[in-house]
Amino acid sequence: MSDTIERVKCLIIGSGPAGYTAAIYAARANMKPVLYQGIEPGGQLTTTTEVENYPGYPDGITGPEMMIEFRKQAERFDTDVRDGWVTKVDFSGDVHKVWVNDTKEIHCDTVIISTGASAKYLGLPSEQKYLKLGGGVSACAICDGFFYRGQEVVIVGGGDSACEEAHYLSKLCKKVTMLVRRDAFRASKIMEARVRNTENIEILHNTNTEEVLGDGQVVTGVRTKNNVTGEIIDIPATGFFAAIGHKPNTDIFKDYLDRDDTGYIINVSGTSKTNIEGVFVSGDAADHVYRQAVTAAGTGCMAALDAERYLAAKEVTVKA
Ligand code: NAP
Repeated sequence: MSDTIERVKCLIIGSGPAGYTAAIYAARANMKPVLYQGIEPGGQLTTTTEVENYPGYPDGITGPEMMIEFRKQAERFDTDVRDGWVTKVDFSGDVHKVWVNDTKEIHCDTVIISTGASAKYLGLPSEQKYLKLGGGVSACAICDGFFYRGQEVVIVGGGDSACEEAHYLSKLCKKVTMLVRRDAFRASKIMEARVRNTENIEILHNTNTEEVLGDGQVVTGVRTKNNVTGEIIDIPATGFFAAIGHKPNTDIFKDYLDRDDTGYIINVSGTSKTNIEGVFVSGDAADHVYRQAVTAAGTGCMAALDAERYLAAKEVTVKA
């Protein structure tokens, strides 16, 4: 443990659009925010190529560039942006305790959680290779589908996300092949019916992904294996979409904050408040529905405003 404990008015955990927007608002409200970037500075957007759906960028911008702009704006108002990974919290007392890299202890009046969620991938070496190259692997059809207009793509997953994203892709792409590993969907019946009734979506059940095929630079197809018959089929495709779920990065809060079955933090409806006073949540850590940069930024703003009002109410109580 560290020998000097730092006291902070507003600590922001996470550096995606939610965290940086919270920082901009908190800094402008003179809350002197300290923001810890976490293990993936910039968050999920740094794994996206072009962002074309964030208002204010008519010509689009790459995800990493956009996050640099967000950071610059937060620093312009004196946000203290730091490297470091929050490894432990203790929200049991009036002062919220946070540990960074297991050593540095910080006592916070308010904490804004913006730790996001991570898309799950299959983990195949070929999938990871083309993901890193930006060569045709994605976990976000809404972000990247546009780049595959008129082309053939493959999407893996049988949940609501996979159905929603396959349907979205079907409006842009010539053909969408869905790989569902079981003989049944996990998705709701209505979402399943939507993909079944879409002409240019082909559904392959009992089908696993063996390999993402490519020419060394970009994806050219997907090798699949039927897990009942053993039949191997190569499907031509220029895009491979993983839609097998997301994991919210909320495990370190599990002893204190209410979370749903999949780990998303439960906020008080219409606010960023959690079940602990002075602890607020923004972005994908609490959102399994929208998961967009612009919605994350919106809830980051809410969290900073809620934190500011919480502190103001506390000061009034102390003075009275
Ligand atoms: P999900 O419900 O957990 O579904 C994940 C899907 O991916 C399942 O079909 C699962 O197969 C498959 N899968 C998991 N690991 C796999 C692997 N290694 N290889 C191949 N397939 C794999 O996740 P989600 O679809 O992201 O949905 C998450 C939550 O958000 C759900 O509660 C959902 O209802 C909700 N949601 C709602 C909407 C909406 O209402 N508009 C939209 C999106 C999401 P198995 O079934 O065999 O496990």
